[in-house]
Amino acid sequence: MKTDFQTLKELHEYYAVNNKCGLRKVATQPVYEITPPSSGIVFIGEAPGKNEDLQGKPFVGAAGKFLNELLLSIGFSREDVYVSNTVKYRPPENREPSDDEKASCRVWLNAELLLVKPKILIPLGRHAFERFVPGAKISASHGLPFEHPSGIPVFAMYHPAVALYNPNLRDVLKEDFKKLKIFLDEGGALMKNETPDTSVFSKKTKTDIDDILSM
Ligand code: URA
Repeated sequence: MKTDFQTLKELHEYYAVNNKCGLRKVATQPVYEITPPSSGIVFIGEAPGKNEDLQGKPFVGAAGKFLNELLLSIGFSREDVYVSNTVKYRPPENREPSDDEKASCRVWLNAELLLVKPKILIPLGRHAFERFVPGAKISASHGLPFEHPSGIPVFAMYHPAVALYNPNLRDVLKEDFKKLKIFLDEGGALMKNETPDTSVFSKKTKTDIDDILSM
């Protein structure tokens, strides 16, 4: 796994070439952000949709619009946070990403997290949540903080897209963002003098599909 990148642009350009994700052949382009957040607040979604695929940027469609609304409701703008995805390419017809697709983008996301140095991780929806808290259910965990082996707090959140189909979950998400704000205000994110054990992001699991050059 290559990790000695100076910038996110450099990192993403490297992994856009050196990855084995099958979706690469069918997507328009990889989707990623290149500006790290000043706040250390990092959201991780599932996989890009149609608008993201066309623009190459995460959460720029309807779900992104609602995410921006939720951020504003707790006093943040989109520029204050970093947003990424478990899978970097759009699955056809917006189907859920497969285990293989998630595994082949895992090393990419790990390298990204090593560079971004999150102070808090906020997985959006089941796929991202399972990635950081394996075995836990999002329906029982949303709105609650968990500890990742790195020491970085993980705050579970439903995916904003669910609110587009289920209006009741819109209110749940609004309430969970209020809980996130309280958690942050009470010092829930890593402080300057707390050093996370980021080595967990450098370790490969059995299911990781590594980038081509380091194999
Ligand atoms: N849904 C996601 O999970 N990610 C995006 O970038 C857009 C929609």
